[in-house]
Amino acid sequence: MLVANRNNGERLSLGDRWDKKELIEIRSKEKFHCPVCKEEVILKLGSKKIWHFSHLAGGMCEYEYDRESEYHLSGKLQLYSWLKKQGIHVELEKFDPQIRQKPDITFQLKGQKYALEFQCSAIPEPLFVKRTKVYLENGYIPIWIAAANLIKRTRRNVVSVSNFLYLFLRRPHHTWNIPAFCPISRQFINLHGVFPISSQKTLTYLEVQPIHQISLNQLLSPAEKQFPIIKAWQAENQRLKSQYVLYPGARQNPFLQELYHNRLSLLTLPSEIGLPVFSSPYIETPSFIWQSFLYLDVFRHYKKGDLVKYARVLDSFNKRMKRGEIKLRNLPLAGQRDYLYPLAEYILLLTKVSFLSRINSGTVKVNREIIFPSTIEEQIKAEEEFLRKHQSKITEALFK
Ligand SMILES: [Zn+2]
Repeated sequence: MLVANRNNGERLSLGDRWDKKELIEIRSKEKFHCPVCKEEVILKLGSKKIWHFSHLAGGMCEYEYDRESEYHLSGKLQLYSWLKKQGIHVELEKFDPQIRQKPDITFQLKGQKYALEFQCSAIPEPLFVKRTKVYLENGYIPIWIAAANLIKRTRRNVVSVSNFLYLFLRRPHHTWNIPAFCPISRQFINLHGVFPISSQKTLTYLEVQPIHQISLNQLLSPAEKQFPIIKAWQAENQRLKSQYVLYPGARQNPFLQELYHNRLSLLTLPSEIGLPVFSSPYIETPSFIWQSFLYLDVFRHYKKGDLVKYARVLDSFNKRMKRGEIKLRNLPLAGQRDYLYPLAEYILLLTKVSFLSRINSGTVKVNREIIFPSTIEEQIKAEEEFLRKHQSKITEALFK
C-alpha cells in the first residue's frame, strides 16, 4: 500500500516526493490508518524495499490478501509518475467508497474516469470479472495492465497466453491487444493481434517499448501492427496436430476417435479446415477442431451446387458447445462470449476461398468439392499452395 490516512483524515501518498527525515518525523508523532478498513497501518521506510504502508499482522482487511510484491509497488509508482509527467491529474490508490474498490491508479481524461490496475498476481477469474463489471457500471473505463512476467514467449511471434492473461485481452478498434508492463526493465510489452493456435499458444506481434517512449494515448488506443502470419500459422498448426496424434492419450481422445470413425485423419485434413479468423479468441477450442466439427456435421452432407442454411451451421456449433466439445473463452474486456463472430467470419472466409458463395444473408451455395489429401506430404503441399493462393484474402480479413 502506498497511501494511508493521517490523524487529520488527510491522505499521505508515498507517490509524492517525500524527504525520509520528514516522514520519520510524522511517523514519530502520529498513527496511520488504512483508507479501506480504517485499521492502523505501519509506515515502512527501509532502504532495501520501496517505502510502503503495511497492515498489522492478523488484520482482516480485504486488501491484505493481495500482499503486494516489490514488483507490484514499483510498477504502480512508475505508472503513476509516467501519467503525472504527461500532465494528467492522477491519484494513487484512491478508495472509492461507492464501489468499495481501490484501483491502483485513477485519473480523468476529457471528462472520462479511468481505473488502472497493474495486476501481478493471478486473482480468481470471477473476481477479475466482477471488478471489471463494477468499474464499467460506475462510469470508469478499466485499464488492466498485466505484469510482464505473465507473458511467456516461445518463438518469434508465438507467445503462451494463460487463461488468466486472456482476461486482459481487449479490442480497441479493429484489433486485439494485451498490455503489460515490466517495472524492472521499465518497459511496456504489448501483444498486438491475438490469433490463437491452441488454448494457450497464440500468434501475436510482441512490441517492447521503454516507458518514456510511449504516451497514454498509445496505451489507450494502440495502433494495429501487421505481421506475416500465414507461414507461422501453418507451421504452428502442423506442430500442434502432430502433438495431438503423438501424445499417449490420443487413442482416447474423442475428437480423434470421431475423425477415425469417419475415415478421416487429423494429419490429412483439407486446407479449408483450420483457418485463422479475426474473432477466434472467443473460442478456446483450436480452430482445426471446431472447423472439423462443422465439416462433419454440415458440409460433408452437401454436394456441389447444394444450398446450405446458416442456421444449420449455427445449430451444429451450439450442439457441440452444449456437449462440451467446443469451449468458449471468457473475455470480460471484449464483450462476453461473442462466438457468433468467428463463426460468421469463417463462413465468409469460405466464400472468399471459393468453396462457398453467398446467396443471401442466411444461405450459401457449395461451389466445389473439398479435396482430401491421401498422404501427409500431399496435405502439406496442398495446404502450402492453398495458403499461397489465398494469402491476401485471409490476411485482409485478419487485419484492417
Ligand atoms: Zn485495510
